[in-house]
Amino acid sequence: DAFAPSPTRYDGTSYRRVGRSGVLLPPISLGFWQNFGEDRDPQTLRAIVRRAFDLGITHFDLANNYGPPPGSAEEHVGRILEQDFRHLRDEIIVSTKAGYRMGPGPYGDGGSRKYLLSSLDRSLHRLGLGYVDIFYHHREDPDTPLEETMGALDQAVRSGRALYAGISNYSPERTVEAAEILADLGTPLLIHQPSYSMFNRSVEHGLLDVADGLGIGLAVYSPLQQGLLTNKYASGVPTGSRASSTGGSLTSRQVHDHAYQECRHGLSEIAHGRGQSLAQLALAWTLRHPSVATALVGASTVRQLEQNILTVENLDFTREELARIDEYAID
Ligand code: NDP
Repeated sequence: DAFAPSPTRYDGTSYRRVGRSGVLLPPISLGFWQNFGEDRDPQTLRAIVRRAFDLGITHFDLANNYGPPPGSAEEHVGRILEQDFRHLRDEIIVSTKAGYRMGPGPYGDGGSRKYLLSSLDRSLHRLGLGYVDIFYHHREDPDTPLEETMGALDQAVRSGRALYAGISNYSPERTVEAAEILADLGTPLLIHQPSYSMFNRSVEHGLLDVADGLGIGLAVYSPLQQGLLTNKYASGVPTGSRASSTGGSLTSRQVHDHAYQECRHGLSEIAHGRGQSLAQLALAWTLRHPSVATALVGASTVRQLEQNILTVENLDFTREELARIDEYAID
């Protein structure tokens, strides 16, 4: 069944400029960190990606290690791109990253030129693509000179394997240094990917200002705090949810934390007053900063994505609403 994308796919979305660049991203982008591993049903995944594109979501965010096991998310997406998006390559932004441990030995982790460029080649192979749009260094590596890591991003771009360079999880100070090195090399830093949600506000202490000053955009991850900022856990931990998997990144302790529960309750009431769900409020709130180009959401069902995309119907906040949200948006 060939994919015939909806002719109205661009009608409902106002795309947002990434810093002072030529790139526009949708306010909501789809991330593949979880839900796209080997254990997931390929047909569901395919349906999620197709629906995302029909909803105007032109940006797919990956990393070498997404799965589980590491690499399998890129393999899944590679198959979907091959089946459905061959003729649509010019309409999508695909990003990937390297920086966390991916392979054994001294060249499978960190920030060396050796690791970054070999990993990017493997990612391109798994994705079945000739280039990715954005290549990120996934986290700071204090043991590798920043010149080497940024040199690898520059080379990735110059060699045509990537169109733009990004960094993720860098401190404000290292972000400034990285941007300066890249500017000297002639490959501007496009984007930074930090975590940001109503329960994790660390970017407000420096990075947002740095991004503004440098003219780079932010792609914020886990804006729903992995599902905590939705009604998913309103009455316990459903089977199959992220918090239900043992050893997962979201724990049932966090779900049952009393302070979080009270805040979720307060925030849900504010959301209700705006005619939004808690998830929609949480997403809109991260997008209130102009330097936040996009919020990267995860989805385990088509329905979640369909609900989350409706966020764009109300992105405005009054001063009073923001003040009330501050009472509950704790980190
Ligand atoms: P979110 O905070 O958006 O959490 C997504 C999860 O929330 C879903 O898997 C789902 O949980 C639940 N959810 C989403 N929408 C709804 C809804 N409407 N109703 C109920 N539950 C909902 O983001 P992620 O933590 O998944 O991260 C998003 C992306 O950000 C990643 O895929 C990745 O691309 C990027 N990222 C980058 C990192 C980095 O270091 N650079 C680190 C982490 C993420 P369930 O699966 O249980 O249904």
